[in-house]
Amino acid sequence: MAPKPKAVRKGTLKRPASKLSPKSHDARVDVATLSAEKFSLTDFIRATWNLNGLAPSSTCKRALTVSSCCTGVNSFGYVLKKMVHCLGQQVKLKDLFGSECDKACQAFLLRNNRAPRCLFEDASDVSTCKQAACAVHARMCVVPSSVAGGEDDLYQSSFVCHWNSIQNPKRFQHDVTQIAQPTWEATRADIAARRPLYALLENVTGLQRDPELAAGGGNGEPALNHCLQQLREIPGYTVHSCEATAHPLPADRNRCLIFLSRSEQHPAEVLCQEFESLQSSVKLNMRRHHLDTCLVAHASATSQQEGGSNPLETTASDDAQDAAAYFQYFSSGLEKAFKKGRLPPGFKVVPREERPSCKHIALQKKSAWCRAQADVYFFIGQFLAQQEQVEDSRSMVADISQSADRGKLCLRGTLPTCTTSSTLYHYRLERFISAPELFVAHGYPGQTCWEGLSEGDQRRIVGNLMSSTTLVLALCPFLKALGALRSSA
Ligand SMILES: [Zn+2]
Repeated sequence: MAPKPKAVRKGTLKRPASKLSPKSHDARVDVATLSAEKFSLTDFIRATWNLNGLAPSSTCKRALTVSSCCTGVNSFGYVLKKMVHCLGQQVKLKDLFGSECDKACQAFLLRNNRAPRCLFEDASDVSTCKQAACAVHARMCVVPSSVAGGEDDLYQSSFVCHWNSIQNPKRFQHDVTQIAQPTWEATRADIAARRPLYALLENVTGLQRDPELAAGGGNGEPALNHCLQQLREIPGYTVHSCEATAHPLPADRNRCLIFLSRSEQHPAEVLCQEFESLQSSVKLNMRRHHLDTCLVAHASATSQQEGGSNPLETTASDDAQDAAAYFQYFSSGLEKAFKKGRLPPGFKVVPREERPSCKHIALQKKSAWCRAQADVYFFIGQFLAQQEQVEDSRSMVADISQSADRGKLCLRGTLPTCTTSSTLYHYRLERFISAPELFVAHGYPGQTCWEGLSEGDQRRIVGNLMSSTTLVLALCPFLKALGALRSSA
């Protein structure tokens, strides 16, 4: 017999109760205000500048020297390049280097011509080694010295945070501040060693809230405080943080941003305030784009049939087993929805053959669990649409990867936050929303090469993305402080 588990130690963190109310995730969105126009990053940059009295500075002739850590698919470099393009001929971008160990991200960067000059594979090499393995040149490359290469203007890091990552099952049981954080260590070491003038750090919002979830030592303190404290220990920097949204994109993507500055004239708090003011004006004046503007027209549902067994070839006993599994998952899903008030007691469901799992080709070959989830969410959506008087709920999208008591569901043409494990199903289109479509929903181009990347790789890339709009708004205060943007008023 397995030994009895040890008694829970004092101060151990408990998994917080789900806070989701029995409402759709986009209950506050007014469908009539959604824009049917496709999002254009260049238009967004120019509109943001116009709206806020910003213009390219005609006297600024310089190169912006930047580098990054946990580069991912270098959204930072991509967005900055677009902004520099909008600034005109006089400003050049020197994207010195990044660091990224994920092979799928490396492949994506090389195929889409998005890599910085050098891409080091190990983040910790940058501050400690003179030479490091580089994925761009497939050899050891010299780590650009901040002395020889001139002063770094801006450094960006999307450090991996195991403190609050849903991929860390220990986050509810341990003093999370005691867990090793290699990319966080690397970020701090880079800043201390290279001393960029400015830095922008980014993480999930779990860092700043849900104290029970992200606390250090069970003392109820958000992990963010711990991060800020450690950054303030680097001499010469002011540090400030705030929360960002992805508005006006259809996808929800809130992020915690940390601004660092070594400039006395432009301290972190002021940069942060400028960002927040830009964000409020964008929220107030720009219409959110409808999800449909990100979807690929005529995408065939049959292309999503891969995986799973062919029902024509199943035996009677396989079939019975599959049906039994489906009913078990379906009833347990319904029970969770009832418990959470997402379905009323006595809610009547249509017979199995009339449910999406039987009618939609994209679902037919999926696992029993997946089909049951799709059906339970379908009923939750129907009920919520009726409750919230949504006349047209044909844009209904649900994250069916989540338990039926807490998975997010949108009815009005926006998308719930997608994580690396999300599976978003679109009921009118009768298909899953693809990773390339989610990429577009975060403000990136549809013309992107995903060749050679598995579905898992694609989902991981999209699940970790920072939206392009957040980056534009966060980078404006830095460009202004660096003299490339000026107030036109
Ligand atoms: Zn290189």
